[in-house]
Amino acid sequence: MQNQKIADNKLSDWQSDKVYGQIRLVFSSIFFSLKAILAVSLLLTAIQWEAINHLVLLFWQLGVFLVSAFRYWQYRRFQASPRSPEEARYWSHQAVLGAFLSGLQWAVAGVFLFAPDSMPHQLFLTFVIAGMAAGAITSLSAYFPAISIFLLVSIFPLSWSFFRLDTGMGDLMAGMLIFFMVLIIRAAHRLNTIITDAITMQHEKGIAEATMRRQALFDELTQLPNRRMLFTHLDQEISRSRRHGYFGAILFLDLDNFKNVNDSLGHALGDKLLTQVAARITLRLRKEDIAARLGGDEFVILLSEIGRQSSTALTHVQRVASEIQGLFKEPFQVNGHTLHITASIGIVLFPLDESSPGDLLQRADVAMYRAKEEGRDRFRFFQPAMQEALDNRLRIEKGLRRALEQKQLELYYQPQVDSQGRMIGAEALVRWRHPKHGIINPAEFISIAEETGLIYRLGDQVLCMACEHILQLAKSTPLAISVNISPKQFREPTFPDRVEEIILQYGIDPKLLHLEITESTVMEDIEQTIDRMETIKSLGVSFAIDDFGTGQSSLAYLKRLPIETLKIDRSFVDDIEKASNDAILVETIIIMAKHMGLKTIAEGVETSESLAFLQDKGCNNFQGYLFSHPVPFHELARMDRRLLPRPASKPAA
Ligand code: C2E
Ligand code: CA
Ligand code: CA
Repeated sequence: MQNQKIADNKLSDWQSDKVYGQIRLVFSSIFFSLKAILAVSLLLTAIQWEAINHLVLLFWQLGVFLVSAFRYWQYRRFQASPRSPEEARYWSHQAVLGAFLSGLQWAVAGVFLFAPDSMPHQLFLTFVIAGMAAGAITSLSAYFPAISIFLLVSIFPLSWSFFRLDTGMGDLMAGMLIFFMVLIIRAAHRLNTIITDAITMQHEKGIAEATMRRQALFDELTQLPNRRMLFTHLDQEISRSRRHGYFGAILFLDLDNFKNVNDSLGHALGDKLLTQVAARITLRLRKEDIAARLGGDEFVILLSEIGRQSSTALTHVQRVASEIQGLFKEPFQVNGHTLHITASIGIVLFPLDESSPGDLLQRADVAMYRAKEEGRDRFRFFQPAMQEALDNRLRIEKGLRRALEQKQLELYYQPQVDSQGRMIGAEALVRWRHPKHGIINPAEFISIAEETGLIYRLGDQVLCMACEHILQLAKSTPLAISVNISPKQFREPTFPDRVEEIILQYGIDPKLLHLEITESTVMEDIEQTIDRMETIKSLGVSFAIDDFGTGQSSLAYLKRLPIETLKIDRSFVDDIEKASNDAILVETIIIMAKHMGLKTIAEGVETSESLAFLQDKGCNNFQGYLFSHPVPFHELARMDRRLLPRPASKPAA
């Protein structure tokens, strides 16, 4: 039903296309016809001048001018009109109208410019009208209604004028003209058939070419792009990723044991299965990605723009690959059979070297075979380093889940001191006490926690532990504790409420809790950040901007942020006395902070030279190995609240 409707639609589309093609031919010849008509009409007027009333002649000539002007106007409008099926109908009417008017001018000539008494003038008139009719065949035959109207209208009246003469010769001429008209209409009809056939053929050729193009680029069974189209895309994608500096990936997917399905249930069923697989894969992809079928049960998925860093790209590919594997969890229903099918996937990232599309596909294929060898239903990376990184990340992710459940995370603390060496606070730095591998530093797992969403639970545990410690310290000598808040954690809508809840739960003085958020977190969505910071600040908690100087903070925004402290990033403090650029930057930050009434803490102060330099520039608070490494809580609790810089040569473990 639906299909029939589509077919009907197609047909009528094509019909109006055809009519439009015919009309276009008619209109395209108008300009030339008009010139001929004007010339011939002037000649006719001149010749008939001595035989016909001048006023009649002049009126007729005027009429010819007017009709020509009208037809010229039609012609211009047609040239400017958009091409659409509805238009075809309108313009076919216009063409008939034009042909009718044109015929009419010769009809009028046939009656009013007919000189009953002058045979030469009669013959000249006949010559002109017959000539115009013959000429019209070439210009109007493309549209048969137009040419037939023109011929009938232009010739009949002249024939009638001869008939009215009531002479033998007159009757003969009248009969000859009718005969001539019938002949010429038949000729026009033949010509029309030839033209229409040519238009139809051209149309069919167009369809055939489009089909061929489709067949050349698409797989017939699944309608997915085929190998050829994939190569073209891949080629473009590789150069684009090189140019713009991001990664893409190829996933080479091969169904496991597809041959069994084909052998036991037949090819027709196998084909249906492949179509369903293609449909599932396509549904899953973003619109910028491409799934292609190479042939057999091999599919390739091309992911573009999946990250500027290989780690982000890796995360993205890994997610897509597991999602695609997930598509096979649900069995396929084909002809009443329930088929459990899995897939092995080989992955290669690009652009890693100068490899061509062919090389890349081959590598993805190699990786796919490795996945098969290792037991099927899994994905493998071609690049061993990638595979290793991925395995490592998966291991960490798994371990981290357990760590969160079994409370293997601990907080170490690094004191922050003022210029007299008095401890003004400490930064909580998370450590993972692994049952086998011992202490693991956050650099190894924070980013993975971020990517996997484990950071929410991790951040929550850290915040609770820090508050517990604030409470314990407050029993003897209170100390302010800074807690690092990851961007994701900060963006979570429930975060401000959660902070309030924890503060109430532990019953701590909120003034002792400082939160560190990085400059990049702030800049991500400045309005939301300010809003959120204000809410949390109203609880009594204060903020520091971490790693300051590394992001692109605009000073205008900085002024609006409810912050108390800027932490100058460690990278600027390293070798500050040697690198003059860093020195200038640090000095600028310090001056600016002072101006805005903000405290500054220099991170990563390792040498007394740096310390002296920073002090000289007006920085009053410090944190770094020079004073203390991060230490477990019990050590912090016992620590002297006045720290002297240690000799640089003998850093504590
Ligand atoms: P950060 O916030 O910039 O923390 C300062 C890092 O510099 C700490 O590394 C600290 O041990 C190290 N550091 C301190 N003084 C010196 C010094 O004099 N020289 C050198 N070379 N390094 C020094 P850590 O503990 O490995 O932490 C690394 C990063 O992990 C932190 O950078 C922070 O971004 C993140 N992190 C740590 N704990 C947490 C946490 O509880 N939550 C979140 N979201 N992130 C955390
Ligand atoms: Ca920090
Ligand atoms: Ca920092």
